[in-house]
Amino acid sequence: MSLDGTPIRTRRTTPAIALVAAIATGLAGGPGVAPARAQDSATRGMPLIRDAEIEQLLRDYAAPVLRAAGLAKQNVRVVVLSDRSFNAFVMDGRHIFINAGALFDAKTPNEIIGVFAHETGHLAGGHLQRLREQLASAQTAGIVALLAGIGAAVAASRAGANAGDVGAAAIMAPQSAIMRSVLSYVRTQEDQADHAGVKFLNATGQSPKGMVELFKRLSDQVLFNSRYIDPYMQTHPMPADRVAALETIAKASPYWDRKDPAELQLRHDLMRAKLSGFLERPDTVARRYPAGDHSLPARYARAISTYRHSDLRQALVQIDSLIQTQPNNPYFYELKGQALLEGGHPAEAISPLRQAAQLSHSNPLIEIMLAQALNATNNPKLAEEAVGLLRTAISREPEAPEAYAQLAMAYGRKGDLANADLASAQAAFARGDLKTARQLATRAKTRLPIGSPAWVRADDIVNVKPNTNANAQ
Ligand SMILES: [Zn+2]
Repeated sequence: MSLDGTPIRTRRTTPAIALVAAIATGLAGGPGVAPARAQDSATRGMPLIRDAEIEQLLRDYAAPVLRAAGLAKQNVRVVVLSDRSFNAFVMDGRHIFINAGALFDAKTPNEIIGVFAHETGHLAGGHLQRLREQLASAQTAGIVALLAGIGAAVAASRAGANAGDVGAAAIMAPQSAIMRSVLSYVRTQEDQADHAGVKFLNATGQSPKGMVELFKRLSDQVLFNSRYIDPYMQTHPMPADRVAALETIAKASPYWDRKDPAELQLRHDLMRAKLSGFLERPDTVARRYPAGDHSLPARYARAISTYRHSDLRQALVQIDSLIQTQPNNPYFYELKGQALLEGGHPAEAISPLRQAAQLSHSNPLIEIMLAQALNATNNPKLAEEAVGLLRTAISREPEAPEAYAQLAMAYGRKGDLANADLASAQAAFARGDLKTARQLATRAKTRLPIGSPAWVRADDIVNVKPNTNANAQ
């Protein structure tokens, strides 16, 4: 597992309209990227959790629902955000975002599948597009800015000469009426997404119970614990009558009482154990998974916590025992490789990472880690293999800065400075550091044959305009 990206830029918004704000910021031509382009790099700058095991599980959760919604061909990606609060949302047509906190809170796969079914309902209904249109029909940037919580002052400064007029108009606009109209529109979309979600779950023979129970839990938060409310409640207003309406249609499902398969439940429990081991303090992990608990998830959480916070050798004993229990689980080998690599034993990490790569059918994230181990041995003979692994991984994971950084290192070991410069430029570009990316790409161009594919890629980076977020792959 790896955490990357810089902390997400926080927008000060009126809580109930966070989603509206996110859309309106793009609409108003504000500091956000334009909606159509946002798809190219929707996740740039967000604090992500990248993990082969969790991403595979979430793909397995989402795929049947997306198929049932007719969205199988749209390559919708589930992205995990490193945030302990409960949230899930869609911001464009190609990503479903979910917080680690939601994965951690959900006791069953069915609850997360229910959340995905609801989010897929938003995607299938084209709700974001319609909400944008609804906001656009409100006409003035001043009103949109108000809705976004940006405030009339900012709107006025943008409007230039007519600043005073726009500001005044915005201030005099019947704010509460506009707010009510937009919120009631959002509410209609929530009802539609609930309906569509239940339909998709029925079509895939899965129970809508998890969705109902989860939404009830979140809705109770508002009633009983007003001090802390999860952001999910802000993006998905959940009054009691909405939950009641959902419950009525959900209980009519022929699959209401159907349980998740035991194998899926175990993978879910392993995911939660992994999140605990990586993200929580050792004493919290020990409390959650006490030594007397010999279940596989408990052993997993303790092994991770041991490698992260105390003794590598002790951790390796614990990980080997996991491998003994499930010798075909790629992620136990991956963990062993990661522990050895981070513990300063790259040569020893290579063999378990090779096994992990093979058992996971060449998962790109695992192959990037394998290449990292190959690089870290400082053995030029292994550089060629690292280059091959990384180029394949990048073709499937084009936005991973770490992969480009490792590729630059591997080319460097081979003495191929032109390609090393290009890969460093791509790493900087993937990080969002356009200035460094341009400098390195310019240098790469002087070393590459003019017109070659690598030269063209370098040239693309040199010519990228700021804030267009064009994809330079
Ligand atoms: Zn919703």
